[in-house]
Amino acid sequence: MKKWTIGVDVGGTEVKFGLFDDKLQEKWSIPTNIQDKGAHILPEIAESVVERCRASGIHKEDLAGIGIGLPGPVLGGNIVKGCVNLGWAEIPVADELSRLLEAAFEQKEGNSSASVGMGTVIPVQAANDANVAALGEMWLGGGKNCTSLVMVTLGTGVGGGIVTDGHILDGVGGCAGEIGHIICVEEEDIVGSCNCGNRGCLEQIASATGIVNYSRHYLDKSDIPSILRDILKEKESFSAKDVLDAAKSGDGAAEQIVDKITMYLGRVLAGICLVVNPECILIGGGVSAAGEYLRARVEQKFREQAFPGIKDTAVRLAVLGNEAGIAGAAYMIQGKDSSL
Ligand SMILES: [Zn+2]
Repeated sequence: MKKWTIGVDVGGTEVKFGLFDDKLQEKWSIPTNIQDKGAHILPEIAESVVERCRASGIHKEDLAGIGIGLPGPVLGGNIVKGCVNLGWAEIPVADELSRLLEAAFEQKEGNSSASVGMGTVIPVQAANDANVAALGEMWLGGGKNCTSLVMVTLGTGVGGGIVTDGHILDGVGGCAGEIGHIICVEEEDIVGSCNCGNRGCLEQIASATGIVNYSRHYLDKSDIPSILRDILKEKESFSAKDVLDAAKSGDGAAEQIVDKITMYLGRVLAGICLVVNPECILIGGGVSAAGEYLRARVEQKFREQAFPGIKDTAVRLAVLGNEAGIAGAAYMIQGKDSSL
């Protein structure tokens, strides 16, 4: 029986791996080698997988397959349309990694497995990392027992992933779920331009960077006393966490800032839920470390702006943190198996 699945999550500095049966059994990581336009990344992933399998006594025939999450748009589970962080242009990642794994296993295990024939090709499935994280949360995290969910990731940027009927929604150009670039911010609250070139994207106000930029903009316009001004005087800067901590402690200005940010988040999520009508909304990413305080406010703003039929959509926190990627990557293979 093909018992094992490996989930791989490729980031700009680190490649994470997880060995799964029905749960995570082992995890490890290697540095992302971005030299030579990222040409070594896939060979080093294949090498690391084969090394770990050998160390754990797992043969090629025991592997159900490998899922891989990547920081860029992915089409048809295979073709990456450029990953700026990795130096990649267009690459058929799944085909390429499958071929490299064959070669690496053949070298390590000798000709015995190669002689088994074509039936032993290791299936590889690729997808965008934010979408994969949403799938991971559905399998083992905050979206457990759901088959559809919308996940918004509030980190340096704002990412997102949509799962419907247990499957990732990629879209024809791999752009489905790019929640951070939905334009929603009103002119008076916009600071500068978004990295995508547009103005007024959700990311500009709800990412860690966006929260800081908007907070400074708000403090410039207002006379309300705030701890944030004291932090600014002392350290010349403050973080998104400082803003959320100040709001939690009852700082009036920070509370108004969080009120505005969660209003935009709630508005965007209400719009998405009217299209997808998922079982739950998950909030993840570094900013979600603000926990129940943030969740409750997003839920309230969501309900205030949601169409009656979707008001009861559950709003939860993501729980897997940076393991969501490896879990979702593994589930791309496992989920396929269980639906057959
Ligand atoms: Zn944008």
